[in-house]
Amino acid sequence: MMYDIQKIREDFPILDRQIYGHPLVYLDNGATTQKPKVVVDALVNEYYSVNANVHRGVHFLSQQATELHENSRETVRRFLNARSTSEIIFTRGTTESINLVASCFGEACMNEGDEIIISEMEHHSNIVPWQLLQSRKNIKIRVIPINDCGELCLDRYEQLFNKRTRLVSITHVSNVLGTVNPIRQMIQTAHAHGVPVLVDGAQSAPHFAVDMQELDCDFFAFSGHKTYGPTGIGVLYGKENWLDRLPPYMGGGEMIKNVSFERTTFNELPFKFEAGTPDYVASTGLSRALDYLTDLGMENIYAHEQELTRYATQRMNEINGMRLIGQSPHKDAVISFLVGDIHHLDMGTLLDRLGIAVRTGHHCAEPLMHRMGIEGTVRASFGLYNTKDEIDSLVNGIERIRHMF
Ligand code: PLP
Repeated sequence: MMYDIQKIREDFPILDRQIYGHPLVYLDNGATTQKPKVVVDALVNEYYSVNANVHRGVHFLSQQATELHENSRETVRRFLNARSTSEIIFTRGTTESINLVASCFGEACMNEGDEIIISEMEHHSNIVPWQLLQSRKNIKIRVIPINDCGELCLDRYEQLFNKRTRLVSITHVSNVLGTVNPIRQMIQTAHAHGVPVLVDGAQSAPHFAVDMQELDCDFFAFSGHKTYGPTGIGVLYGKENWLDRLPPYMGGGEMIKNVSFERTTFNELPFKFEAGTPDYVASTGLSRALDYLTDLGMENIYAHEQELTRYATQRMNEINGMRLIGQSPHKDAVISFLVGDIHHLDMGTLLDRLGIAVRTGHHCAEPLMHRMGIEGTVRASFGLYNTKDEIDSLVNGIERIRHMF
């Protein structure tokens, strides 16, 4: 299929906006992505013509809303190539998905002195839930170090396993460095030690095909809003045998089979983990977004973004005083940088005045900042609608700002 970038951009009305008199150059896709019309239309249509609470209603609208919601679960299953919709739990996003595992897996499978392996490049959402568990259960958090290029030290990873290791929880792609971790190999290593793996897919699911059966991970988390879908919805994939073993996360409606004051029994998967009214409209939006990605072809999106990443790396390296943070050859769609001694916040603020949206700061990865010996970076992160012209605008903008200092 031809990747017709102009036609694709027409699907995203916001890209036509002018910011301070400049055409918007949106390079903050790592934080959230823009939404194609099909997604917003699906939300509006459902609210206007279907809206009713799901699962419990006998009336027409409730059944239609339920069908849409459960069809969306099937779309997610297909997108991830999971074995069954029982393995697809709707959450509010990656953060909630990881907290769910920390809470439920921590409750069922971890005791004082047990260990979890995470890495130095994790987002706070894959650090703090484990620290909360640590304060409840006195578990130990072991950390895989990274090298100066921003890659995980795999030999050190192997050495972290011992008989108390209960779980590995690592990011697929770093939201700061762009490093794509060799997750398949890391999962095999963990499984060889009998240890399950949770993959934080917040920065991988939007960019390339992720196949649960091929990866063989035990849990996988991603966010709808970073995947061109609505805010407030995300996914936790879990292998059925693990999910069956875990206790519920929250209590309430939907997650029960029968309730009495003496004894409550829990619903079957995946509903056991979905207490309360789900965001059944957002699930429809998410499924439209995933269908949109599938129709474009994840391999085409990947090829396009790889080309952008290569081009951006080359152009950025032409800038005097440029320091790229994260130099792994296995990178995807993220360029973090600092220029001379220009503060990242100044750079971000001045780029904004040129209509260029980038993110600045520690990117919710303070331990990584400490490791790299910096306070923060400027981060340009690409999406399926970005162009080389936009990268030229970024480079020209940086040059202008550099000359001001
Ligand atoms: N993990 C990574 C690698 C991320 O980049 C992010 C968001 O930036 C998250 C987790 C948290 O995602 P959310 O805020 O959608 O829950």
